[in-house]
Amino acid sequence: MNPRLLNSLKKHPELWDIFTGKKDGHTTYSRYDDPNPESLMVPHISKHLINQGYKVSYPHGKTFALCLTHDVDDIYPPLTHKALAFFYSLGSLDFRQMKSHLFWEIKGTKFSPYMNFQQIMDLERKYDAKSTFYFMATDRDPVRLRYNIEDIKGELKEIVKQGWDVGLHGGYYSYDDIGAIKREKQRLERALGREVLGYRNHYLRFKVPDTWVHLEKCGFKYDTTYGYTNVVGFRNGMCHPFKPFNPNTGKQMEIFEIPLHIMDGALFDLTGGFNHAWQITKKLIDLAADCRGVLTVLWHNSAFNCPFRVKWRRMYEKILEYGREKNAWMTSSYEIWRWWQTNGY
Ligand SMILES: [Zn+2]
Repeated sequence: MNPRLLNSLKKHPELWDIFTGKKDGHTTYSRYDDPNPESLMVPHISKHLINQGYKVSYPHGKTFALCLTHDVDDIYPPLTHKALAFFYSLGSLDFRQMKSHLFWEIKGTKFSPYMNFQQIMDLERKYDAKSTFYFMATDRDPVRLRYNIEDIKGELKEIVKQGWDVGLHGGYYSYDDIGAIKREKQRLERALGREVLGYRNHYLRFKVPDTWVHLEKCGFKYDTTYGYTNVVGFRNGMCHPFKPFNPNTGKQMEIFEIPLHIMDGALFDLTGGFNHAWQITKKLIDLAADCRGVLTVLWHNSAFNCPFRVKWRRMYEKILEYGREKNAWMTSSYEIWRWWQTNGY
């Protein structure tokens, strides 16, 4: 964002406070005051910037973008998922599904139902879309040991080879620990065999502005953590990537924030069912399209092979269908960052 646009925000304290997240507190990533605030459903700041002349164009004649992302929390179903998969498969008399969820270990770890990156890429390819997979490389977690990133070196390389993006899904405790972020980045880079530029913290844990400062120092170019765990919408009124303002230095940072708008779990926790969830999702896509903006969605990889979350997978496919219909550029966080960087937006 150029200095003129930034100054135009500074002149309006009410907009400035939304943009900088001042009202939010420093470590908020869940909203408890108002579980479904209407104001989150309006990209106030992006609209203001557009009125001030902010204009973005996209490649191949596309008119807005959907930034598609997947947090890979698990590559092996945890016990709770196994139990739920058993009951759901039993309920629907789907014994093939039950077998694939309960007995895959006999054939080997590569047959885990959550080792599904190729399946997700194949689905996206059908819609001419790409995405980012955020992988964990920590050994500290309050719930369980997730996985060893070294177990899937081949899969990581394959994802990048096919043109998709791999980023770091920082550990639960890492958002405020620069040493941990650095170690995890190096570990993932060793497994992947190349530099990692993108970040999202597990559970969307974040400290404003400290996490951005840590990430910048560790060499990250873009982050996609800035959203809420329990509601959907425009956390700081932005449906465009932006360089965050650091109140401690009085300057814009170099790192790009590609704000997160819809997380699968938050969407379905908030809504009564598929139709209601779709109404909200469609509204957010339409709003981003009207602003020629970028709407970021997070669908966990497990959602694509989860007998008890079939609706989640269906919703993702509906997003892809609608995105194609509306002429969206459906792509990874890396491509969005590169486009912004190249065009100086
Ligand atoms: Zn996570």
